[in-house]
Amino acid sequence: MNFKGLRVHRPESLAAVADLQRRFGDDAALLAGGTELLLLMRLGLTRFDHLISLRRLPGMADLSVSPSGDLILGGGVTHQQVADSPIVRQLNGVLAQAEGRLANLRVRASGTLAGNLAFADPHSDTLTLLSALGAWIESDGAGEHRRVPVTDLVTGLFTTVLEPGEIVTRIVIPARWLNASLAHERFESRRQRPMVTVSCAGHTDSSGRLDDVRLVVGSVCPHPLIVDTLAELLVGARPEEVEPATVVEAGTSAAGEIPVRDDEDGAADYKSNLVSVLVRRAVRDMLSSSATPRKDARMP
Ligand SMILES: Cc1cc2nc3c(=O)[nH]c(=O)nc-3n(C[C@H](O)[C@H](O)[C@H](O)COP(=O)(O)OP(=O)(O)OC[C@H]3O[C@@H](n4cnc5c(N)ncnc54)[C@H](O)[C@@H]3O)c2cc1C
Repeated sequence: MNFKGLRVHRPESLAAVADLQRRFGDDAALLAGGTELLLLMRLGLTRFDHLISLRRLPGMADLSVSPSGDLILGGGVTHQQVADSPIVRQLNGVLAQAEGRLANLRVRASGTLAGNLAFADPHSDTLTLLSALGAWIESDGAGEHRRVPVTDLVTGLFTTVLEPGEIVTRIVIPARWLNASLAHERFESRRQRPMVTVSCAGHTDSSGRLDDVRLVVGSVCPHPLIVDTLAELLVGARPEEVEPATVVEAGTSAAGEIPVRDDEDGAADYKSNLVSVLVRRAVRDMLSSSATPRKDARMP
């Protein structure tokens, strides 16, 4: 792809972005880290004469915690920023670790979480993780501000509910799930992208019993799917008392619920088997990190 003639605009306000979009219409695209967009343009799969960089918009690179404990990630926060953030590491080490392991350093350093969600490639760790954590996005477009749960964002392969030109300005992870126990499992394809992703979050009440569980399976289907049967199996139980057979059942029933198709990553049977194994691992890890140590337990 020849980038000759391409103009990159760097507006400093949402009003200036809207103005550029009015002027250039379909000839313009929003640009964050460019790890997907520039790749598509280089391969000649899409073409724009104008790119509107979101980098200089106020607050885009901010990472903060609200007074009620929600984690707020600006729309320009990169994967590596999350991985390196002492705040995220302290609040949810699994999230920091997962964001620090995906792709490669070059992609993590420029690629943003918002770009990952907006692009809606199903082979995404971030979509699965943020769905399990009950996160939502906040966006601005056509003078409207709205909030969309990540679970409702993606409508199909590479498609979302976002309107053309609508900007994801923030991603919010609510305190309730940020402080829950989280486990994330993935199996990577030869293309460096995950073939199967599983995130499991468990919330315990003050008596140490699980009062809410979220299991999300992604990458094998166009958008991440919530598996409700796990909550039916685990809510009300003490994590340390859950039988290994229940964990096996969780894996088997999740694999039965997720519609998996043959694709370039592998046969449906193979991927269903992976779903079952990764769900078992994620559930086991979530349970062991939310277990309350017994008072009479002795260190080995
Ligand atoms: C080699 C490779 C390996 C990868 N491996 C993984 C992996 O293992 N796991 C994983 O989860 N992901 C993986 N990814 C995906 C990676 O996370 C995304 O490429 C990255 O997060 C996209 O963000 P970006 O800022 O570069 O988006 P861009 O390329 O700048 O934009 C992508 C799309 O989103 C739109 N967009 C960007 N920001 C916004 C916004 N704020 N509001 C609205 N629309 C917006 C753009 O207009 C464009 O359509 C991989 C990517 C590559 C290239």
